[in-house]
Amino acid sequence: MQTEHILITDPTEQATDIRRAACIIRTGGLVVFPTETVYGLGGDATNADASRRIYAAKGRPSDNPLIIHVASPQDAAMYADTDALYDRLAKAFMPGPLTVIMPRKPIIPLSTTGGLETVAVRCPSHPVAHALIAAAGVPIAAPSANLSGKPSPTCAAHVAQDMDGRVDMILDGGDCEIGLESTIVKLDRDGDGEFLTLLRPGHITLEDLERALGEEVELSKAILEKLPEGAVVRSPGMKYKHYAPATPVVLLEGTPEHVLSYLQERQKTERCAILCYDEEIPHLLPGGLLPVGARDDLATHAHTLFARLRESDSLHADVVYAHLPPREGLGLALYNRMIRAAAHTVRKV
Ligand code: AMP
Ligand code: MG
Repeated sequence: MQTEHILITDPTEQATDIRRAACIIRTGGLVVFPTETVYGLGGDATNADASRRIYAAKGRPSDNPLIIHVASPQDAAMYADTDALYDRLAKAFMPGPLTVIMPRKPIIPLSTTGGLETVAVRCPSHPVAHALIAAAGVPIAAPSANLSGKPSPTCAAHVAQDMDGRVDMILDGGDCEIGLESTIVKLDRDGDGEFLTLLRPGHITLEDLERALGEEVELSKAILEKLPEGAVVRSPGMKYKHYAPATPVVLLEGTPEHVLSYLQERQKTERCAILCYDEEIPHLLPGGLLPVGARDDLATHAHTLFARLRESDSLHADVVYAHLPPREGLGLALYNRMIRAAAHTVRKV
């Protein structure tokens, strides 16, 4: 398949390009588009064949459900059983990097939801994503636009590495601002009423959710822990090895001084790549350094993480060292991605 690449700087001025992309979606084709989180690999969420094509293009197991993207928060009610808690979340965080899982309406086929009776809905804030979904007139099912097992793409060049020849069109909207996939929450109901569980942390943090709702939000076990073989998970994506570069990743836990001297020692004998903080650069040998921003600048760390993991592969190192992120605030989202990239390998130094 020939993939068309289009640079989109202004979706209003480039309405003709957006209409062509929307036409591809409506007729069952695949279009990669930028969002504020990562690039998405989009197809018509109401078309079972389009969903199958998405799974094939990604090389993704088809029991791993897709997130559907809507043009406005109210549109969710056409595809899912929304309720008062959804409305509160929508008011606080949408459009934006939050995905909400709710019971599905029959218009969304089981092939889109990986066979589940629930559907994940998100309303992105990126102007190109918004313009495309609005023009398509259908919800767009879109997982991250990487080959299964590769880090999510945060720029069009990384999309092209994985998806050239596998999709009809790639809309290049530049670098994704956030760089980590959306926060995912699940809405449930029990005898006491509705409640929320955090299934995947992201730019919208556990603390943000609790502050906005004025109540505690449950944290899914799969976020922090390694799941036992064959475990039943609430978010099927959690059971797959994710975000893994080809070079093994080791996370280092210890005081800043201990980690730095460990890295200095390893550089003497090992071909290592290091996802390092800016403050460490003057104290390390320059070869193999992949800076992720200042120690306290978690937003830059999030923005650069996936690009750095991709780069680490091209360095042909024996090992990639990285810091174990804190587990609060945005750190929890970084922690969740990095323990997966490292297949839970943490070394205390
Ligand atoms: P991605 O599209 O690559 O950002 O991954 C989407 C993730 O959302 C999946 O891997 C699942 O873990 C999660 N997800 C999507 N839909 C559902 C659902 N209906 N129930 C539980 N988890 C879901
Ligand atoms: Mg993904």
